[in-house]
Amino acid sequence: MSLAAKKVKVNNRPYQICTNCIMDTTDSSITFDENGLCEYCENYYTTILPNWHTDERGEAHIMKIMEKIKKEGEGKDHDCLIGISGGLDSSYLVYLAKEKFGLRPLLFHVDAGWNSDISTHNIHSIVDGLGLDLYTEVVNWDEMKDLQRAFIKSQVRDIDLPQDLVFFSSLYNFAAKHKFKYILTGGNYSTECVREPFEWGAYFQTDMRYVNDIHKKFGTIPLKTFPTCDILKYKILYRFINGVRVVKPLDHVPFIKADVIKLLQEKFNWTPYPHKHHESRFTRFYESFWLPRKFGYDRRKAHFSSLILTNQMTREAALERTSRPELEEQILMQEFEYVAQKLDFTVEELTALFNGENKCYKDYKNKSNLITLGTRIMQLLGLEKRAFK
Ligand SMILES: [Zn+2]
Repeated sequence: MSLAAKKVKVNNRPYQICTNCIMDTTDSSITFDENGLCEYCENYYTTILPNWHTDERGEAHIMKIMEKIKKEGEGKDHDCLIGISGGLDSSYLVYLAKEKFGLRPLLFHVDAGWNSDISTHNIHSIVDGLGLDLYTEVVNWDEMKDLQRAFIKSQVRDIDLPQDLVFFSSLYNFAAKHKFKYILTGGNYSTECVREPFEWGAYFQTDMRYVNDIHKKFGTIPLKTFPTCDILKYKILYRFINGVRVVKPLDHVPFIKADVIKLLQEKFNWTPYPHKHHESRFTRFYESFWLPRKFGYDRRKAHFSSLILTNQMTREAALERTSRPELEEQILMQEFEYVAQKLDFTVEELTALFNGENKCYKDYKNKSNLITLGTRIMQLLGLEKRAFK
C-alpha cells in the first residue's frame, strides 16, 4: 500500500484561486467577487482592518486593560495566566506581558507528549530569561494516546483535535479552579486573520458531543483524568459565573513576524520554527502529511494568506512555497514511522488507515448547529470578526 498523496477530489467545483491571497476552491464554499477577490480578503478589508489598531489607539486601549489587570491582581502571587507552547505567538506575548505591560503572569504549559526539542528549548529560554513562574500540566499519556488513536481510526479530518482540546481545556479549567480572572492568549490577526475553514480539519475543538461520540466508538479505555471543557462550559459558566476574561494583547500592538523572531532570538536565544504550529511534532505531521495527502487540504494556504493580507509575505513567495511539500520526503517518512510507533500502530496499520475511506465531523454526533448559532450572535455583537465556516 502506498503513502503517496491520495488522488482525492475535494469537491466538484472548477478550480479557482483568489487574485489577492492564495485561498482557493479546496475550500468548497469559498466565494469570489467579480474581480476574483475571495471572501476572506473581503472580510479582512471590510471587517477586520478598519477595527484593528496597532498604533497609539491600540496601545491606549490595551494599557487601560493592563492597568485593570494589575490593580485587580494586587496582593496575589500572579495577576494573570498565559498558556505557553514555545511557538512564536505565545513566546512574544509572554515577553510583552512582563516587559511592556509589567504584569506578573503565571505561565502554563501543557505537555501532551509531542513537544519538539525546539519548543522545549524555547519555553525554558523564555521562562528563565524573564524570571517567570511556570506550571506544567502533564497529560496522562495512555488517555492522550487512546483519544488520538480513536480520532485517527474514525477517519475524520480533525485528528489534531485531541491536542487542541487538551491545551485549551487544561488552561481554562486551571484558571477557573485557581480563580484567575484573566487569561492572556496569543490569538492575533497578524498571522491568523484568515482562519482555516472547518472543512480543513479545523472544526471546534471543544464540541464534547463530537469528541465523546468518536471516543465511544473507537476508544478503548475511559478518559478518567483527561482534561476536557465543553464550549458551552467556558463560554457561559467560566465567562459569566467564574468571571474568567480572555484578553488578546497581540491585536493592539505592532506584531510583525520577522521582527519578533529577531527580537526573541537576540534576547532569549529563541529558535524559530520553519513553519507555524511546528512546536508539536504531531501537528507538524498532521499539517504537512496527513491532511494534505489523505484529504487534499493544505493549511499553509490559510497561514500564508494571513501573511499576504498583513503585508508580511508576497503572493508569489506563498505560491512558490506551497508548490512543494513543507518537509522533505525522507523526513515525512521518518515522521510517519515515529507517529505510528508512538501511537502503538504498526506502520502497516497506520498506512491502512491512511488509505481508508475519508470522513468528516458530520459523520458523527456533534452540536455544530448550536455552536454556529452562538458564533453568529458573537459576530452580530461585534465580538468575533473573523469568518468562521
Ligand atoms: Zn483572498
